[in-house]
Amino acid sequence: MPPADKPHVLILGGGITGLAAAYTLERETDFDITLLDTNPKLGGKIQTHRQDGFTIEEGPDSVFAGKVAALELISQLELEDEVIEPKSRGYYLLLDGRLHRVPNGLATLSRVNPDGIEEADFLSPDAKVRALAEPTIPPEIVVDESISHFFTRRFGLEFSRLVAEPILAGTHAGDPSKLSMRALYPHFLDREAQYGSLAFSDQSKVSAGPTFLSFRNGMATLIDAIHKRLERTRMRQGVAATNLVESDSGVTNKDSFPPEWFSHVLCAMPATAAEVVLSLVKPEASKLLGEIEFASSTIATAAYDADSLPGELHGTGFLAPFEEYSQLTGSTWTSSKWPDRAPQERVLVRFFYGGDSRPPLPNADELVAQTRANAQTILGIRAEPLFTKVHEYPRGLPQYTGGHTALVDQIEESLTGTSFTVAGSSYRGVGIPDCIRQGRDAARKIAKEFG
Ligand SMILES: Cc1cc2nc3c(=O)[nH]c(=O)nc-3n(C[C@H](O)[C@H](O)[C@H](O)COP(=O)(O)OP(=O)(O)OC[C@H]3O[C@@H](n4cnc5c(N)ncnc54)[C@H](O)[C@@H]3O)c2cc1C
Repeated sequence: MPPADKPHVLILGGGITGLAAAYTLERETDFDITLLDTNPKLGGKIQTHRQDGFTIEEGPDSVFAGKVAALELISQLELEDEVIEPKSRGYYLLLDGRLHRVPNGLATLSRVNPDGIEEADFLSPDAKVRALAEPTIPPEIVVDESISHFFTRRFGLEFSRLVAEPILAGTHAGDPSKLSMRALYPHFLDREAQYGSLAFSDQSKVSAGPTFLSFRNGMATLIDAIHKRLERTRMRQGVAATNLVESDSGVTNKDSFPPEWFSHVLCAMPATAAEVVLSLVKPEASKLLGEIEFASSTIATAAYDADSLPGELHGTGFLAPFEEYSQLTGSTWTSSKWPDRAPQERVLVRFFYGGDSRPPLPNADELVAQTRANAQTILGIRAEPLFTKVHEYPRGLPQYTGGHTALVDQIEESLTGTSFTVAGSSYRGVGIPDCIRQGRDAARKIAKEFG
C-alpha cells in the first residue's frame, strides 16, 4: 500500500495514555491521527457515573498533584476551575478488626516525622525504638529491592508491614515482597542516597499543599475535556485491530476494508492487550510483554443513609496490612474525602478487594455480601445499603515486580526502529500523571521520527 502524503499515526487505546498522545500529536504536528478503542466508551479505567445524586468513580478517584505532567494538561485544558481538593486528610489502619488513626507525621514516607512514630498506637514499643533508629542505619545500594526489603532494612519489620506496605503496595493491589522500589518509588532511593535517611525532624519544611486532586464532576471531566479538544483525530470506538502487517513504509491494518495504511502504531492499551495485537507482527516484543505481571481487583461502592452510621466518618478511609489470606485491602470514604460526591444526609464508601498473592476473588454477589458484612463489623453500619455497585478489574493492575524496569527496557529495545511504540500504565508509571507523560512523550518521539 503506498504511503499517504503525510504521516498517519494509529493509536490503539483511548484511555488517558492514548488520549494524551492524540492531544499532543494534534497540538504539535499536522499528522493524520486515528484512535481506535475496542470499548465503545472512551477513558479506559477512568469512568465516572452519576446515580440518584451520587458521583461514583468506577476506577481512579484522584490525581497525584506532585507531578507536573497532569498539572500542565489541566492548565492546557483550562480545567483549573473544575479542580477540587480533598475536604479531609488522614486515614486509618485496619488491624485485628479495629481502626487505628495513622498519625499525620507518617503520611509522607519520604519525610517521616519521628513524632509520628511515637504517636502511632499500633506500633509496639520495640518497633518504635527500631523505627526511630532509622537515621543511624547506613545507606545501602541494593539492586532492585522490594518495598518490604527497603522499609524493613531502614525502619524495621513492623513499621514496614503496618505503615509503609499498606500505602505503597496496597494501593497497587500488590505483594510488598515482590513490588520493586526502583520501578515504583525511585525518589525514596534517591533520598536515602542523598541524605542517608528518610526521617525528617524539621517538618516545617515539608510541603502542606494538597497531595491529590480531583474534579467537581468526577474524573471523567479530564477525559471529556481532551475528547472535546480533539478536532483532527478520527475516533473509532468499539473496534478491534487484529490483523496488522508491517512493511518498509509502515503498517497496514487488514481488518479495515479497504486495508488502511499507517506510518506508525502507538499501542496505548494494557500490555495484556498489546501482547495479543503484536503476537504475529512482533513476536519477540509480544513474548516480553507477556512477562509483565498483573493482579486482579474489585471495587464495591455502597451508598447509605447518613443516620444509619453510628457517627460521622472522619478521614479518607482505611488500609489493611497485607495478609495472604485476606481479600480486603482498604476502603475509601468517598463522601468524607471529597466534596459533593453524595447528596445531603447520604454517605458513599468504596471497599477494595483482591490483589497479588491473595486468594482468588469471589463473584460480584458474594462481594456485595462481604461488603455488607465489612460495613457492619468495621464501620458499625447495620442498615442495608441504598445500593451497591461492583466494578471488576480482572488482571487490571500492572505489577512492577523485581526486574520490571529492565524488562521494559528490553521491550522498548525490541521495538526500536520498527513501526510500533508502547506506552501506558503497564510500563513506566501506573498513576494518571505518569500515563499522561508517557502518552505525551510517545507522541513526541513519533513526531520527531517523521517530522
Ligand atoms: C481500581 C483502580 C483505581 C485506580 N486509582 C487511581 C487513582 O486514584 N489515581 C491514579 O493516578 N491512578 C489510579 N489508577 C491507575 C490508573 O487509573 C491507570 O493506570 C490509568 O488510568 C491507565 O491508563 P491507560 O490509558 O494507560 O490504560 P487504560 O485506562 O487501561 O486504557 C486502555 C484502553 O485501551 C483499550 N483497549 C484494550 N485493548 C485494546 C485493543 N486491542 N485495541 C484497542 N484498544 C484497546 C481499553 O478499552 C481502554 O480504553 C487506578 C486503577 C484502578 C484499576
